[in-house]
Amino acid sequence: MKFEANLKETVVLDPKNKTTRAIPSEIRKDPLTGRTARICHFMKLKWEKPDFEKMTAGTEKTCPFCPDKVLSITPYFAEDLIPEGRLISGDMVLFPNIAPYDSLGAVATFGSRHYIPMTEITPELIVKGFLLAFDFFKRVESLKHPESVYHIINWNYMPASGSSLIHPHLQVFSTSSAPNLMRQELEAAKKYYEANGTNFWDDLVKSEESENKRFLGRTGRTSWLSSYAPIGVAGDVLGVVDGVNSTLGLTKKDLSDIALGLTKAMTAYDRLGIYSFNMNFFTGAAGDDFTRFHILFSPRTFFNQALGTPDVGALRNLFNETLCMAFPEDIRDMLAPDFKP
Ligand SMILES: [Zn+2]
Repeated sequence: MKFEANLKETVVLDPKNKTTRAIPSEIRKDPLTGRTARICHFMKLKWEKPDFEKMTAGTEKTCPFCPDKVLSITPYFAEDLIPEGRLISGDMVLFPNIAPYDSLGAVATFGSRHYIPMTEITPELIVKGFLLAFDFFKRVESLKHPESVYHIINWNYMPASGSSLIHPHLQVFSTSSAPNLMRQELEAAKKYYEANGTNFWDDLVKSEESENKRFLGRTGRTSWLSSYAPIGVAGDVLGVVDGVNSTLGLTKKDLSDIALGLTKAMTAYDRLGIYSFNMNFFTGAAGDDFTRFHILFSPRTFFNQALGTPDVGALRNLFNETLCMAFPEDIRDMLAPDFKP
């Protein structure tokens, strides 16, 4: 496994005595896609958390996912897809996404509680939400729907992540159109398989475990890593499921293991003052033996909380060039205690 980095240095002069100071930065290459990520802007990964009571107060009044509104406001699916209109599991509800970005999109609420602090999100709650999404995927699959190719769950938690609502919920969709980064990964993993005769993700996990610089631990057959070339400004946590190529290949045990790993990442990042994240499924289509199902957890924050400055600027938004403000190896050390078995 090749982990390439281009080390750079910026020299600046002190305005008073003209002494020089060298500031390092690093441009890393993702070992699969070649996508570059800059390790720079070094700072202590520590943020002040806001007053959550003040932040969330009153937001339940207009919240469409709260129990007094969710069943009267949210739409039904077409009868040929979900004849009963919506999928329900206890107090969790899955309904069509009213702002669709693909033909088979759904939103699943995490139940009746309007605000769930990140550290109170339990593995059981996540599994219950995932299983509701899987009910949707299985319906789509049983209809042999042309969009039943990639089954994806995305999660934007709290506003810094791009969520417009406090009420926790999942984005759930089945699509034949792989999103950019997932498609690039699939193409690169296929090429890697053809060139090397091995699965990139299996090789990555093996290499990361033996190098032990970014390896976090395992839950069941899911291996957790601090990404070598992260997308998030505070690093990314990557979970790779051994032996599984696509979402529908995950067992209930896998979902519990994934959920457990996610809550470990949440607990660890909470200590740094992070309270928002993105999480995406990355899946192959059934039979894509060259890939492995993986999940990416990426903490989100503000560059300036008081001004509401997002952690995505021109470099990231228009060049898709990412910044990470600490070395992923140091981030691993910060997160590792939570991943101890
Ligand atoms: Zn609500």
